[in-house]
Amino acid sequence: MKVTWLGHAAFEVELDGVNILVDPFLSGNPKAAKSPDEVEPDLVLVTHGHGDHLGDAIDICKRTGATLVAIYEIAVYAQSQGVENVEEMNIGGTIEVEGLEVVQVPALHSSEIVEDGEIVAGGTPTGYVVMGSDGSFYHAGDTGVFKDMEIIGELYEPEVAMLPIGSRFTMGPKEAALAVELIEPEVVIPMHYGTFPPIEVDPEDFVKEVEKRGVDVEVVVLEPGETWEG
Ligand code: ZN
Repeated sequence: MKVTWLGHAAFEVELDGVNILVDPFLSGNPKAAKSPDEVEPDLVLVTHGHGDHLGDAIDICKRTGATLVAIYEIAVYAQSQGVENVEEMNIGGTIEVEGLEVVQVPALHSSEIVEDGEIVAGGTPTGYVVMGSDGSFYHAGDTGVFKDMEIIGELYEPEVAMLPIGSRFTMGPKEAALAVELIEPEVVIPMHYGTFPPIEVDPEDFVKEVEKRGVDVEVVVLEPGETWEG
């Protein structure tokens, strides 16, 4: 499994030969490691409707024919925008797509889509666990910490967790360290920080909070464009 951080909450993951793109906010993202034209995904997972997560997902799916996976309301919206291959689902459900198991899990956040200054309902916010024969990961989306992250760890045992640490809109370093303790992944990659001044956080603060808890986990701090392979 290869996990490349594209900046903010955007990741490219190669798992079992499938190219997965999560929350592709690339145009307008000052830290984006790739442009929307440089990605060739098979699957695009969208955690919620905010512009910094839905991002370029619709245009990328229309250009590449990739399958967009989202909660029902966002799936309907994507279809209305001309995306052909859509897998709709909802929290707690598992689908098999491209030979991978994709589980949609809860997130504590909001999820409206803003279109031309108008609010469009986007269902509730989500995260994903993706499991293949070569590894598994949990992308938490935007979320506060919640005790049921323990259930995500117990049921799916994700090898890698991508967790937001930027505070203000999501967990900060202290909360994310507790999340690590609840999920018990082997590797944690912090995200959703440093993109804009309001979420400027030093990832070393997260490393220290995890160390304070004495959790047995490898914290992998990536620069946008860098890849973790395992
Ligand atoms: Zn959000």
